Amino acid sequence: MKVVFCASEVFPFAKTGGLADVCGSLPIALKKIGIEVAIVLPGYRCVGQAGCAMEQVTEIVSRTKLGRNIQVYFIEHEQYFDREDLYGDAAGDYPDNIERFGFYCDQVLQLLKQIDFQPDIVHCHDWQTALIPVYMKEKYKDDAFYAQTKTVMTIHNLAFQGAFPKEQYPKLGVESSFAAQSFEFYDQVNLLKAGITYSDKVTTVSPQYAQEIQTKQFGCGLEGVLSERYDGVIGILNGLDHDVWNPRTDSFIAAKYSADDFSDAKLTNKMQLQKELYLDARDDVPLFGFVGRLSHQKGLDLVIDTIKDLVKMDVQMVFLGLGNGHYQEKLKQAAALYSENIAVRFDFNEPLGHQIYAGSDLFLMPSQFEPCGLSQMISLYYGTIPVVFKTGGLADTVKPFGLLNKDGNGFVFTDYSNAGFLKIVQKAVKVFSNDKEFHRLRGNALRRDFSWEKSARVYQEVYNNVKKQ
Ligand code: ADP
Repeated sequence: MKVVFCASEVFPFAKTGGLADVCGSLPIALKKIGIEVAIVLPGYRCVGQAGCAMEQVTEIVSRTKLGRNIQVYFIEHEQYFDREDLYGDAAGDYPDNIERFGFYCDQVLQLLKQIDFQPDIVHCHDWQTALIPVYMKEKYKDDAFYAQTKTVMTIHNLAFQGAFPKEQYPKLGVESSFAAQSFEFYDQVNLLKAGITYSDKVTTVSPQYAQEIQTKQFGCGLEGVLSERYDGVIGILNGLDHDVWNPRTDSFIAAKYSADDFSDAKLTNKMQLQKELYLDARDDVPLFGFVGRLSHQKGLDLVIDTIKDLVKMDVQMVFLGLGNGHYQEKLKQAAALYSENIAVRFDFNEPLGHQIYAGSDLFLMPSQFEPCGLSQMISLYYGTIPVVFKTGGLADTVKPFGLLNKDGNGFVFTDYSNAGFLKIVQKAVKVFSNDKEFHRLRGNALRRDFSWEKSARVYQEVYNNVKKQ
């Protein structure tokens, strides 16, 4: 079985969020179970800065390796990809994103022929790659090279669809009337919609989210397209790469630990984090961490709106994130006002991220919606207890801890309101103050296995089934 992964982010070459983690680790897990995988992504400026040994394959394609022998190809284009960021800057999304990713998708299919990598499956991730299934069935429909190739489209976040003004449609170079219909979305051209329509199988990143996106509330306008697919949408939970995320071996953290022995190390990491972020080095105060995109999705409005009441509970909070300037400004103000309780860093900082997962007691992730979410899985694996809203992958991975359920691993609220959020934080703080209870909860969290093994087998099954279609 030969699979090519097409994605706009792959860790460690280019990352803004969980998509990169998934596309940098799932191929390794697939390879372990005997699937031959290659990866193709755009050759952004940051790829050159990652310091990997590169080999030039064609005039516009270079190559390196991931893990043990997975070939990773980079499609280069100075004007399109030699930029500071992946998708946009402070002014918003780059206005030529449709051309940038259109070019990338077109080049992927040319490249596979040039290097003679004839895939059984082209596995596309998110809207940036959604033109590939369309091109396969339109531009390449009579090409013998791709006659046996099928496409799988994985939705990592339905909120991002690649919708552009309809005047840009001619740039895509597809002319059939079926294509025109497939892209049409409220007077715009929608790349993800077409990708969903054209691909042979659609998957998403958690079972709960697979259900949610077929409803009006979470479907972002595509619920009809998704629920009308004759073969449904399958949700496969993401895993973690334990070579990257592992408190036993993590070289970024002050003290390593495991599920069998964690108390002293957790405290050392906490003190180190407090020192690093100029907070009082106190053991008795619950330290809440946040690592993530500063966006509406992540529930930061709840945190900002209730900040006065949170601080009254005598808690510390550390925020690491990049994104929406509004949230950045609000958090900065809160940190200035409550400097003893709140520390903020607006940066993309991998080492500090690891230190927050390891050093915090609890992890704030009150996302309004969450396709899978890696941050809560990472925090669980680091014995840092997540506080989450019951949605998407958060609902699939965090089980409420309570008087009646001592086997739970986190705090889950179901009333998405300031009051609902405050109530769950109060509960978390109360459990934190009971050493025995909190120790038990931490143990529960640390013992949960998030490795890719199981999900990789499910993907294998999906590939096999699609191949037979
Ligand atoms: P999403 O994909 O919606 O952004 P996930 O929880 O799935 O959210 O994944 C987020 C990933 O990005 C995690 O690995 C998280 O640690 C990382 N991350 C997000 N923001 C930052 C940041 N500012 N610095 C370091 N790592 C970050």
